Amino acid sequence: MRVQQQTAGENGGIASRTSRTKTHKRRRIRYGRLSAALVLLALIITGLTYAFIGMTHWIKGYVAPPPIAAIEQPTKLGMIEMTPDVKEEPARFQGQVRKLAYITFDDGPSEYTEQLLDILKEHEAKATFFMIGRQLNQHKSAVERLVQEGSYPGLHSMTHNYNTLYKSGSSANFVKEFKKEQKMVQDLIGFTPHLIRAPYGSSPQIGESFRGDIAAAGFKMWDWTTDSLDWNLPGQPDKIVARVRKSVHRDKEVILMHEREQTVQALPRILKLLEDRGYEFEVYDPNAHWTANFSGDTRL
Ligand SMILES: [Zn+2]
Repeated sequence: MRVQQQTAGENGGIASRTSRTKTHKRRRIRYGRLSAALVLLALIITGLTYAFIGMTHWIKGYVAPPPIAAIEQPTKLGMIEMTPDVKEEPARFQGQVRKLAYITFDDGPSEYTEQLLDILKEHEAKATFFMIGRQLNQHKSAVERLVQEGSYPGLHSMTHNYNTLYKSGSSANFVKEFKKEQKMVQDLIGFTPHLIRAPYGSSPQIGESFRGDIAAAGFKMWDWTTDSLDWNLPGQPDKIVARVRKSVHRDKEVILMHEREQTVQALPRILKLLEDRGYEFEVYDPNAHWTANFSGDTRL
């Protein structure tokens, strides 16, 4: 009976006044239910869309590659291919990634070592010195002082002679020189350094098996990320400062400098610009070693 009335009403046919009013009521109810259902459906769709967008962002956060700026290509001399260490959390302090500058001085100890130490002291900075073995005895007190003041006595071979170290292609002379120098430093200051820097850098003259021999001898090897080119800029400290200013941008910078007069002149401004850029000065720490060689060889 109800069904019939309803059908009649919907067809707009011959229904009585009473039944027409009832039909209108039912229609209102049905339209009401329909719009409620539509609103609910719209809400569900919106909800699902938001959930989907949220999910993609969440997934992106996990699988998206790092921004291009974070992938540094070793395009020029002095650029290290930084090997991302998945185990290593970025060093954070109060929510900010710490920017660390490792100042390094090659080819000492020399008549300039003490002056460099004086400037470092003014900035509460320490440095990593890569020293030449045959110069150690002439500057004993400078070596003792740099270690006392917290700098690291790194090794840079006995002779610094390209032909002796590399020409044969064998690692024999290289390893022998570094072992000899290591023993000298040990006898001099009672500390055994393991970090070396290859004269002229590790690339291209040091290949994979050569690097394996260095690692097997118990050494670690650092190149650099920023080359100040200071050795080639005598009398031009401004250019050395400009060169460093242009190059530094990484969270960890290993800055190559040498014990030269122009470097002594440029150093105060270099330390100042690094401070202004938010860098903290770090010295090599054997207990917190990280890979910094041109080949990204994690054995070293
Ligand atoms: Zn050198």
